[in-house]
Amino acid sequence: MKTLEQIAAELQGYDPHALPADTVGAFLERLVQPLAQTETVSLAQALDRVLARDVLSPMDVPPHDNAAMDGYALRGADLRPAEPTRLRVLGACYAGQQGWGAPVPPGACVRIMTGAVMPAGCDTVVPVEFVADGGDGTITVPAGVVRPGDHRRLRGEDLAAGRPALHAGQRLGPAALGLLASLGLPEVTVTRRARVAYFSTGDEVLSLGEPWRPGAIYDSNRHTLTALLRRLGVEVLDLGVVRDDPAALEAALRQAAAQADAVVTSGGVSMGEADHTKAVMRRLGDVVFWRIAMRPGRPMAVGQLEGQGRATLLFGLPGNPVAAMVTFLMFVRPALLRLMGAQAAAPIPLRARSAEPMRKKPGRTEYQRGIVTRAADGSLQVRTTGQQGSGVLRSMVEANGLIVLHHDQGDVAPGDEVDVLMFEGLI
Ligand code: AMP
Ligand code: MG
Repeated sequence: MKTLEQIAAELQGYDPHALPADTVGAFLERLVQPLAQTETVSLAQALDRVLARDVLSPMDVPPHDNAAMDGYALRGADLRPAEPTRLRVLGACYAGQQGWGAPVPPGACVRIMTGAVMPAGCDTVVPVEFVADGGDGTITVPAGVVRPGDHRRLRGEDLAAGRPALHAGQRLGPAALGLLASLGLPEVTVTRRARVAYFSTGDEVLSLGEPWRPGAIYDSNRHTLTALLRRLGVEVLDLGVVRDDPAALEAALRQAAAQADAVVTSGGVSMGEADHTKAVMRRLGDVVFWRIAMRPGRPMAVGQLEGQGRATLLFGLPGNPVAAMVTFLMFVRPALLRLMGAQAAAPIPLRARSAEPMRKKPGRTEYQRGIVTRAADGSLQVRTTGQQGSGVLRSMVEANGLIVLHHDQGDVAPGDEVDVLMFEGLI
């Protein structure tokens, strides 16, 4: 068995003291294997769950040729190319009816509503607004307003029976749920929910309800991180605040490893920490401690603890509130999606013009809190929220996205385009 340090050492550019952010992602992609267990849930329970297997369509969608417009169903061959075409109206067919009885003969047509089954013999719908009603049971279709085959939806044109409607690894959003419903499928097989334990560490960290005392701060990470976890659709085990005390840390990590697929902690992993988190983590599992070439962020621990049946993933995030959120979004979020079987592509950044200069040293990735707005000329522009200290949680509230200044990138001049990962869809 290779240790995590050995696996990491095989990655390009591996340097535990200045690890490129991209390398962390590549490492986690190798480390995290999807959960094997699945469950079958009703569509009402399936939002944001990850499809465990391909879903093959049990039927053609739409199930029959039907009208795409309100109008008259007719035989395309009856249309005269250069002159008006007069047709006899046999009657009307409505959505929900099984169809028109006998085939429509040449020279005739049927009034039809959107979604109604096309009568046999008809292959074209002329929209009602193009037609002159003779008032005598006939209509006249002017030349050139429709071509044969127009305004008709073909059976199976969305999806043919037996074809994959959805693929394993897809996270089910509203459109996918609608598609499953359109196939008549009341339930769906998804990967089981991951169980993720969380605790904050630090002697200075107070829980809500505790009276404030000098030297103490309230625990914000517990609320930002458990909220981010809930957004991912995982089952959260909130283990509260754990003191910088080896016995308490060991007990919390053991409890997390026994109950969860992954444990996320904050605090206690930075260089020169007075606390004991690192020593205890090392004792209970195979853990690497990194300084990542990023800002905010930097210290992070990744490991595997002896769990029940399978190893429990460990993500030891920095204590600084912004650093904890950013490292969660950049590394833990994709890792947990992968754990739940999601084949999620990385979020796509948008490009916006920087409204201000930004100092940036090549050799690390920076995530500045940005506010994207639309400029007077319609283009997107972005400014920072100001002070970018990794403890300034307010900056995450004011921002609507993260400006990503890439590893090799240098200073940004006003007007330069930069990548921004919008929070909508990410957080
Ligand atoms: P650490 O990573 O433990 O060295 O903590 C870095 C900074 O983040 C310190 O200023 C801590 O007080 C602060 N911090 C640690 N944990 C939390 C937390 N749960 N909520 C808010 N701030 C925290
Ligand atoms: Mg600490």
